[in-house]
Amino acid sequence: MSAPTRCVFLVRGIVQGVGFRPFVYRTAVALDLAGSVRNEPEGVAIEAEGPRAQIDLLQRALWTSAPPMARVESVDASWLPPAGIRGFAITASRGSTSTTLVPADVATCPSCLAEMCDSGDRRYGYPFINCTDCGPRYTLIRGMPYDRAMTTMATFSQCPSCLAEYTDPMSRRFHAEPNACPACGPGLSLLDGFGALVEAPDPLAEAVRRLRSGAILAVKGLGGFHLVCNARDATAVDRMRRLKQRDGKPFAVMSPDVDAIRAFACVAMDEADLLATPARPIVLLRKADLFDLAEGIAPNNAFIGAMLPYAPLHHRILSDGAFTALVMTSANPHDEPIASGNDEAVRRLSGIADGFLVHDRDIVTRCDDSVAAVLAGRTRMIRRSRGYVPLPISMPVDGPPILAVGADLKNAFCVTRGGLAFMGPHVGDLANAATAVWFEEAAMHLCGLLNVRPAAVAHDMHPDYMSTRLATLLRDLLCPDAPLVPVQHHHAHVLSCLAEHRRTGPVIGLALDGTGYGTDGTIWGGEILMVDGANFGRHATLRPLPLPGGDMATLEPWRLAVSILHQADADNLVAAFSPRWPVDSPRIDAVLGLCRNGRDLPRSSGLGRLFDAVSALCGLCPLASFDGQAAMAVEHAAIEVPGQPDPYPWEVDRAPTGLSILDPRPMVLALAADLLTGTPPSVVCARFQATVVCAYASMAIDVAVATGLSTIALSGGAFQNRHLLAGISRRLLAAGLDVLSQSLVPANDGGIALGQAVAALCRQ
Ligand code: ZN
Ligand code: ZN
Ligand code: FE
Repeated sequence: MSAPTRCVFLVRGIVQGVGFRPFVYRTAVALDLAGSVRNEPEGVAIEAEGPRAQIDLLQRALWTSAPPMARVESVDASWLPPAGIRGFAITASRGSTSTTLVPADVATCPSCLAEMCDSGDRRYGYPFINCTDCGPRYTLIRGMPYDRAMTTMATFSQCPSCLAEYTDPMSRRFHAEPNACPACGPGLSLLDGFGALVEAPDPLAEAVRRLRSGAILAVKGLGGFHLVCNARDATAVDRMRRLKQRDGKPFAVMSPDVDAIRAFACVAMDEADLLATPARPIVLLRKADLFDLAEGIAPNNAFIGAMLPYAPLHHRILSDGAFTALVMTSANPHDEPIASGNDEAVRRLSGIADGFLVHDRDIVTRCDDSVAAVLAGRTRMIRRSRGYVPLPISMPVDGPPILAVGADLKNAFCVTRGGLAFMGPHVGDLANAATAVWFEEAAMHLCGLLNVRPAAVAHDMHPDYMSTRLATLLRDLLCPDAPLVPVQHHHAHVLSCLAEHRRTGPVIGLALDGTGYGTDGTIWGGEILMVDGANFGRHATLRPLPLPGGDMATLEPWRLAVSILHQADADNLVAAFSPRWPVDSPRIDAVLGLCRNGRDLPRSSGLGRLFDAVSALCGLCPLASFDGQAAMAVEHAAIEVPGQPDPYPWEVDRAPTGLSILDPRPMVLALAADLLTGTPPSVVCARFQATVVCAYASMAIDVAVATGLSTIALSGGAFQNRHLLAGISRRLLAAGLDVLSQSLVPANDGGIALGQAVAALCRQ
C-alpha cells in the first residue's frame, strides 16, 4: 500500500443543499480516508488523508457519483504532506452565505418512491416523503441559509425516528430539510366545493373516488394548486374549460409513466428522457394518430403537453391504475396568478372546483410547471419555472447585481450576482393587479434569498409597459439610488440567446417575434440586428403592416388579413375571403375603410402579425383567444405537408438609410390566388413558412457578407415554431455560418430578462 498523503479539494458548482457533504462523507468513509468536508462560500471544501490511490478514487467519485441534483463545475486539488488526521467528519460551514445557491424543487427520487410503495416501510403511502436527493426546495424556502428553520417545515418538529435520520451522516436524509413522516409531518385533508372539511378516513382515496366519478378537484402540489380531472372524461374536461374561461389554451396532462403517455402522444427517446428529468417539465409532444383523450384538452392543436408525476402525492393519485391520464392545469381563474394558499384557493376557486385536496405545508413562492420541447434536436425551454428556478445560468459578463424585469407577456424576471443569472419563476402576463403584486413579491423574495441589492434595474424600452412601471417601483423600494436601464426588446432577445453561449457579440441577431417597442417608437418584430454588447444596429426588417383597430388586431387576425390584402393592392379580394371569417360584412367594410384612409394606423413589423394575417386568410384562426394562437394554427396546419415545399416569391427593398425591408406583397398575392383556386390551407401554410425561412435566411446571409460577421444568434418567440427554427438554422449552416439558438431559457419573452441583464452589465 502506498504511503499516506493529504489533499485539499475545492468543489465548485451546485454543491450545496443537494446532499453533497453526506455523499462525500459516505464515500470517504467507504474508502477508509481520514479528513473532513464543509461548505465554504466558494463551494464545498474537502480535506482527505490516506493512500494516494484511495484519494484518487475519491476525486474520481466527485465527478462520477455526485448526488443527482449536484452539478460539479470544477474540482481544484492541492497536495500536502500528511498531518496524521484520524476519522472523517462533516464540519461547520465557514464564511458567509452570500455565494451559496438556492436549490430548485426536485421530483421524488427512485429510493423514496420504493419506500413509499413498501408496505413494511414506516413511510408506506406517505404523500410527503422526500430526502436530500428530492423534494420541495425553492417553493418552501423563506430565507437563507437553507436550513429547516428558514422553510415552511419549521412548524413541524421531527419525531425521534426522523431526527435520527436527519442527524446521521450515513442516512439519505442527513440534513434533508423537509424531512417528514406520517407521525410528524404534513397531512392531507379533503374539502368540499365550499371549503368545508369532508369527513373521510382516507382523504386521498376519497379524492380519487370523486375524480373517478367526474369531479374537478383543486389539488395542492409543490408550487401551487392544479385543477385536476380525468383526461378521458369529456364532460369533466368541457366543464373545466367552461369554468376556467380558457377558450383555446391547451391543458396539460399527467400520466403515471411514459408508456401511458404513448397511448395518446408520440414520444421519441430524447422526449422520454426530458419527461423523466428530475425537473419534470411539461413536454410538448405530437398527438398520436389515435388520440383518445377528451378532445377539449387541446382543441385544434397538433400537440399535447404531458408530464410525469413529480410529487409523491401525484404518484399516489395515479398509483391505483384508476387513471392513465389526468388533466393537471394551473389553478388560476382567467389570467390571474396560480393559487397557492389553502384559504386563497377556496376563495378563488369555489365555483370552479368541486373539492379541494389540500395539505398543511405552506408554499412560500408560487411556481408553475415548466414547459419544454425537443425542437431541432435539442431541449428548448418554453416556460422555465418549477424544477429549474432559481438554478443559475452562467453569463459572459460579471459585475454588480442587476434586476431585470422582463417584458409584459410571459413575464419572468432575472436577478444577477457576479457572473451568474438567476431567472425568477414564470409570472405570466402582467395584465392585472394580482399578477403585478405577485411579481413584486417574487422579485423582492429572490433578491433577498440571493442577498443582493441591485445596482441597476433593467427594463423594456416600451413606455406603456406595466413592467416598465414595476421597474420604477422596485427600484424605489430596493435601491433608490440605482439607475433604470431601458433595453430595446429585440436587442435583449439576441443578448439572451448570446448569454447562454457565454458571448456578447459582435454577432448578427435574428429576432423574430410578435411585438416589441422599437427605438423609432413603432412596433418591431421581424428584425435582423448587429449586436455587440450594449450596442446594436438595425440591418433588416419586415415591411410594417398597418394594424386596423390597434391592439384589437392581435385577437382579431381577420383585421390583419384585410390590412395585408389592402397593402398588396388587392382590396378586390377582400369580399372573396370574407366568408372565411365569422364577422358581418359592415364590420369588414369598416376595417377596409380604416386601411384605405389609414395614414395614422399603428404599424408593426412583427413577424407574428404576418402569421396572423395568413392564418386568417386560410380561415384557420380569424378570431383568436390568446396571443400566438393564430400563428400556432399555421404551424400545425403545415405539419401535415411532407417534404420541402416551394417558397412563394418575395422582394427585398433597400431604404435610403441602408435598412433592408422584406416586402411580402408578392407572396401575399400568390398565396391568395392559391387559396381562391382551392389549394388546401395546409399546403399554403407550408409554402408560407418556407418563404419566411428562405427570405430571412437569405437576408441574414447578406448581412453576414456585408458586415463580415459569421455568427448568427436566433431569438424571439417565432423560433418556437419547429419549421422556422430547423429551416433557418439549416440554411445558415449550409452557408457556412455559425448558428446560436436558445435552449436554457425560452426564446420567447420569458427569456428576455436575461438579455436585459446582460445589456445592463455591458453598459456598466
Ligand atoms: Zn428521495
Ligand atoms: Zn417523523
Ligand atoms: Fe419578444
